[in-house]
Amino acid sequence: MASILIVEDEKKIARFLELELKHEGYDVLTAFDGRSGLDTALEADPDLLILDLMLPELSGIEVCRRLRHSSDVPIIMLTAKDDVSDKVMGLDMGADDYVTKPFAIEELLARIRVALKKRRAKDMQKPDGQDHVLKIGCVSIDTASWQVHVREEPVALTRKEFDTLRYLMEHRGTAVTRDQLMNEVWGYDYIGDSNIVDVYIRYLRHKIDDQYGIKTIHTIRSVGYLFDYEEQA
Ligand code: CA
Repeated sequence: MASILIVEDEKKIARFLELELKHEGYDVLTAFDGRSGLDTALEADPDLLILDLMLPELSGIEVCRRLRHSSDVPIIMLTAKDDVSDKVMGLDMGADDYVTKPFAIEELLARIRVALKKRRAKDMQKPDGQDHVLKIGCVSIDTASWQVHVREEPVALTRKEFDTLRYLMEHRGTAVTRDQLMNEVWGYDYIGDSNIVDVYIRYLRHKIDDQYGIKTIHTIRSVGYLFDYEEQA
């Protein structure tokens, strides 16, 4: 059974989650501050992290950032505030999803199942040959090493940016709807702001199109987005 680490300083919530998750059959670990959460995550190597953002010692954002140096464990953030900038920052630091407090336990359980399923699917994609490299124009992405190059130069993308770009490139020449991107990049039962897709498209255009004088991500009015490679005049 999958193991889950809960990092949450509110002991009542941590205890409640622990009981619920154990009831679902998960192995559960708990930590009550950011530093011990980070240590436990590194030592115990759990299958998934539930990470509160407002933590003593180290903030949840900081735990996320440090953990991502060496681990791609799925992370679901708990956020007290319904604050988009907080969520975007967490997602940029490599979190996979978030749930706003107070949350319904069923919602969190559904997110956990999605995150674990995505992880298993990813683990099963064993790279062989160059099948994992997709190159369109001067933009190439490597889905095994998670690297992106434009004109042979490496471009640093966050995980959500990478997933968004990958989906668009895999569907080159086809208009992709916001809903498709939400489902593919954030998961089917994601119940968040769909304008987050537009935020990530903006980041990608800044890092790729604007930096290299090319046009790759086109807006298709009232539909969504389309990847098509053009050198800009
Ligand atoms: Ca807290």
